[in-house]
Amino acid sequence: MGFIKIIKSILGIRMKKGRKNVILFGPPGSGKGTQAKQLEKKFGLIQVSTGDLFRYELGNNTPLGQKARSYMDKGQLVPDEITIGMLKNKIDQYPDCGGFIFDGFPRTIPQAEALDNLLSDGEEQVDQLISLKVDDDEIVRRLLERGKTSGRADDANEEVIRKRIEVYKAETAPVYAYYDKKSLSVEIEGIGSIEEINDRLNALIDSI
Ligand code: AMP
Repeated sequence: MGFIKIIKSILGIRMKKGRKNVILFGPPGSGKGTQAKQLEKKFGLIQVSTGDLFRYELGNNTPLGQKARSYMDKGQLVPDEITIGMLKNKIDQYPDCGGFIFDGFPRTIPQAEALDNLLSDGEEQVDQLISLKVDDDEIVRRLLERGKTSGRADDANEEVIRKRIEVYKAETAPVYAYYDKKSLSVEIEGIGSIEEINDRLNALIDSI
């Protein structure tokens, strides 16, 4: 390795040591988006919400948005290759940020593996997965309430909400175990005031 490369790599490792990459995990309606926005400000992290990214594409009626719509409206997951490509584009835009707060990603084991590979290419890793625990009835209640103002088709219909919970349990919950094997998963109570939950998250992220 040349001298310049060695210096760059030392600086790179120093810079990246300070980065925090956190997965905010939990079923739809568990408060991930609300909390991610607060953490973004407090810790200088970039919130990456694949749901928001899809809704942006959908709103602009792009080919990607058109592909995603049929899955989203039914409460199903958008296929991994589409989701992973979109996520990679997003994180490549922030090479110098303080880290990421992943909200709604990864939702499958292949997505988790892809995220690990992406981060390890930059000599980084997922530092913590924090799961918000909320029971099914509370989720349905919250999402139907949100549906009154969110304009989201997938929040307006109880059948679609139940489907999203089912998909979460079958396809997404295993991601918790995947990071638990690496001793990176932790679960906290997701019921309480926004401030209470925020305090719990702040304490956890402060300790990374
Ligand atoms: P969310 O806003 O996170 O509740 O996501 C809304 C919808 O977008 C989901 O029900 C999926 O159809 C789609 N979606 C969001 N994130 C992902 C992901 N990581 N993998 C697959 N589909 C996703």
